[in-house]
Amino acid sequence: MKGLDLAVLLEKLNEEIMANKANKTLKNISGRFYVDDQCIDCDLCRAIAPDFFTRDHDNGYSIVTCQPSTPEEEELCREAMRSCPVEAIGDDGDDD
Ligand code: SF4
Repeated sequence: MKGLDLAVLLEKLNEEIMANKANKTLKNISGRFYVDDQCIDCDLCRAIAPDFFTRDHDNGYSIVTCQPSTPEEEELCREAMRSCPVEAIGDDGDDD
């Protein structure tokens, strides 16, 4: 691995796997949590946090339909995010 910094490589790979705000699915409600176009419609986030994640039946993927407003709700959304098998859920921590 001459000339290759392993930490930089791992960071780059992680960026490619993690949810990307630029690739949000269209119907996410605005706010910190979102689903991007990597979603494989596995239903896990909707099972964990059904008040916040919903299936977009027209397009076959999950979307965020409600943003959490309490610490407990935020933790539920983070649990859904951690559980997503393809890391399609993002948390950008702001309200755009
Ligand atoms: S857990 Fe991830 S892949 Fe599964 S439906 Fe939710 S966003 Fe999509």
